[in-house]
Amino acid sequence: MAEDFADGGWQERDPTEQLAEEIENKRAQQEAMERRARLEEALSRVRTLEGKLAEAEAQSVEWNSAVEDLHATFIQAAIDWLAEKWGPSRQCPYCGNDEWTVSVPVNLLLESRETLPPHFTSTCTNCGNTVFINAIQAGLFPDPEL
Ligand SMILES: [Zn+2]
Repeated sequence: MAEDFADGGWQERDPTEQLAEEIENKRAQQEAMERRARLEEALSRVRTLEGKLAEAEAQSVEWNSAVEDLHATFIQAAIDWLAEKWGPSRQCPYCGNDEWTVSVPVNLLLESRETLPPHFTSTCTNCGNTVFINAIQAGLFPDPEL
Protein backbone atom coordinates (compact mmCIF):
# COMPACT_ATOMS: atom_id res chain seq x y z
CA MET A 1 0.00 0.00 0.00
CA ALA A 2 1.34 3.33 -0.93
CA GLU A 3 0.12 4.86 2.34
CA ASP A 4 2.55 2.75 4.32
CA PHE A 5 5.38 4.61 2.83
CA ALA A 6 3.76 8.02 2.68
CA ASP A 7 4.49 9.05 6.22
CA GLY A 8 8.19 8.63 6.57
CA GLY A 9 8.50 9.09 2.90
CA TRP A 10 10.00 6.31 0.83
CA GLN A 11 13.58 7.05 0.31
CA GLU A 12 15.95 5.59 -2.16
CA ARG A 13 18.63 3.97 -0.17
CA ASP A 14 22.06 5.33 -0.51
CA PRO A 15 23.99 2.65 -2.48
CA THR A 16 27.12 3.25 -0.39
CA GLU A 17 25.13 2.71 2.82
CA GLN A 18 23.56 -0.41 1.34
CA LEU A 19 26.96 -1.75 0.36
CA ALA A 20 28.31 -1.00 3.84
CA GLU A 21 25.36 -2.90 5.35
CA GLU A 22 25.95 -5.88 3.05
CA ILE A 23 29.64 -5.91 3.98
CA GLU A 24 28.70 -5.73 7.67
CA ASN A 25 26.25 -8.63 7.21
CA LYS A 26 28.87 -10.73 5.44
CA ARG A 27 31.38 -9.95 8.19
CA ALA A 28 28.84 -10.96 10.87
CA GLN A 29 28.09 -14.18 8.95
CA GLN A 30 31.80 -14.90 8.63
CA GLU A 31 32.31 -14.35 12.37
CA ALA A 32 29.35 -16.59 13.19
CA MET A 33 30.82 -19.33 10.97
CA GLU A 34 34.23 -18.98 12.59
CA ARG A 35 32.67 -19.07 16.06
CA ARG A 36 30.76 -22.17 15.13
CA ALA A 37 33.88 -23.80 13.65
CA ARG A 38 35.82 -23.10 16.87
CA LEU A 39 33.01 -24.60 18.94
CA GLU A 40 32.80 -27.67 16.69
CA GLU A 41 36.57 -28.16 16.90
CA ALA A 42 36.55 -27.84 20.70
CA LEU A 43 33.63 -30.24 20.94
CA SER A 44 35.29 -32.69 18.59
CA ARG A 45 38.45 -32.60 20.70
CA VAL A 46 36.46 -33.37 23.87
CA ARG A 47 34.60 -36.22 22.13
CA THR A 48 37.89 -37.72 20.90
CA LEU A 49 39.42 -37.49 24.36
CA GLU A 50 36.27 -38.94 25.94
CA GLY A 51 36.80 -42.00 23.76
CA LYS A 52 40.44 -42.24 24.82
CA LEU A 53 39.50 -41.66 28.45
CA ALA A 54 36.98 -44.50 28.32
CA GLU A 55 39.70 -46.73 26.80
CA ALA A 56 42.18 -45.67 29.48
CA GLU A 57 39.63 -46.34 32.23
CA ALA A 58 38.97 -49.79 30.79
CA GLN A 59 42.74 -50.45 30.67
CA SER A 60 43.09 -49.17 34.22
CA VAL A 61 40.38 -51.57 35.43
CA GLU A 62 42.08 -54.41 33.52
CA TRP A 63 45.47 -53.43 34.96
CA ASN A 64 44.12 -53.30 38.53
CA SER A 65 42.55 -56.70 38.03
CA ALA A 66 45.84 -58.13 36.70
CA VAL A 67 47.73 -56.70 39.69
CA GLU A 68 45.16 -58.11 42.14
CA ASP A 69 45.47 -61.48 40.44
CA LEU A 70 49.29 -61.29 40.60
CA HIS A 71 49.16 -60.44 44.32
CA ALA A 72 46.69 -63.21 45.13
CA THR A 73 48.74 -65.71 43.09
CA PHE A 74 51.96 -64.56 44.74
CA ILE A 75 50.55 -64.77 48.27
CA GLN A 76 49.22 -68.27 47.65
CA ALA A 77 52.62 -69.32 46.24
CA ALA A 78 54.37 -67.77 49.25
CA ILE A 79 52.03 -69.58 51.68
CA ASP A 80 52.71 -72.87 49.87
CA TRP A 81 56.45 -72.16 49.91
CA LEU A 82 56.36 -71.37 53.67
CA ALA A 83 54.37 -74.55 54.40
CA GLU A 84 56.99 -76.51 52.46
CA LYS A 85 60.03 -74.82 54.06
CA TRP A 86 58.77 -74.03 57.58
CA GLY A 87 56.33 -76.89 57.90
CA PRO A 88 52.55 -76.62 58.17
CA SER A 89 52.67 -74.83 61.53
CA ARG A 90 55.46 -72.58 62.74
CA GLN A 91 55.47 -70.94 66.15
CA CYS A 92 56.76 -67.39 66.50
CA PRO A 93 60.11 -67.62 68.37
CA TYR A 94 59.13 -64.59 70.51
CA CYS A 95 55.54 -65.22 71.55
CA GLY A 96 54.68 -68.77 70.54
CA ASN A 97 51.76 -67.70 68.30
CA ASP A 98 51.41 -69.82 65.19
CA GLU A 99 49.43 -67.46 62.95
CA TRP A 100 51.26 -65.42 60.35
CA THR A 101 50.31 -63.08 57.54
CA VAL A 102 52.16 -62.97 54.23
CA SER A 103 52.78 -59.87 52.12
CA VAL A 104 53.32 -59.26 48.44
CA PRO A 105 56.95 -58.56 47.51
CA VAL A 106 58.28 -55.18 48.54
CA ASN A 107 61.32 -53.34 47.27
CA LEU A 108 63.61 -52.25 50.06
CA LEU A 109 65.52 -49.05 49.53
CA LEU A 110 68.66 -48.78 51.60
CA GLU A 111 70.03 -45.50 52.91
CA SER A 112 72.83 -45.85 50.37
CA ARG A 113 70.09 -45.68 47.68
CA GLU A 114 70.76 -49.30 46.73
CA THR A 115 67.74 -51.54 46.52
CA LEU A 116 67.62 -55.04 47.85
CA PRO A 117 66.05 -57.72 45.70
CA PRO A 118 62.28 -58.01 46.25
CA HIS A 119 61.40 -59.55 49.59
CA PHE A 120 58.10 -60.68 50.99
CA THR A 121 57.31 -60.63 54.66
CA SER A 122 55.75 -63.06 57.05
CA THR A 123 54.43 -61.31 60.13
CA CYS A 124 53.30 -62.84 63.42
CA THR A 125 49.67 -61.80 63.95
CA ASN A 126 50.24 -61.57 67.72
CA CYS A 127 53.50 -59.68 68.31
CA GLY A 128 54.29 -58.31 64.87
CA ASN A 129 57.62 -60.10 64.58
CA THR A 130 58.36 -59.81 60.88
CA VAL A 131 60.55 -62.09 58.82
CA PHE A 132 61.82 -60.84 55.45
CA ILE A 133 62.26 -63.52 52.81
CA ASN A 134 64.15 -62.90 49.58
CA ALA A 135 61.54 -63.68 46.92
CA ILE A 136 64.14 -64.39 44.25
CA GLN A 137 66.07 -66.80 46.45
CA ALA A 138 62.78 -68.49 47.37
CA GLY A 139 62.18 -68.96 43.63
CA LEU A 140 58.94 -67.00 43.75
CA PHE A 141 60.17 -64.09 41.70
CA PRO A 142 62.15 -64.20 38.47
CA ASP A 143 65.84 -63.51 38.90
CA PRO A 144 66.62 -60.32 36.96
CA GLU A 145 70.18 -61.61 36.45
CA LEU A 146 68.97 -64.56 34.39
ZN1 LIG B 1 54.95 -63.39 67.70
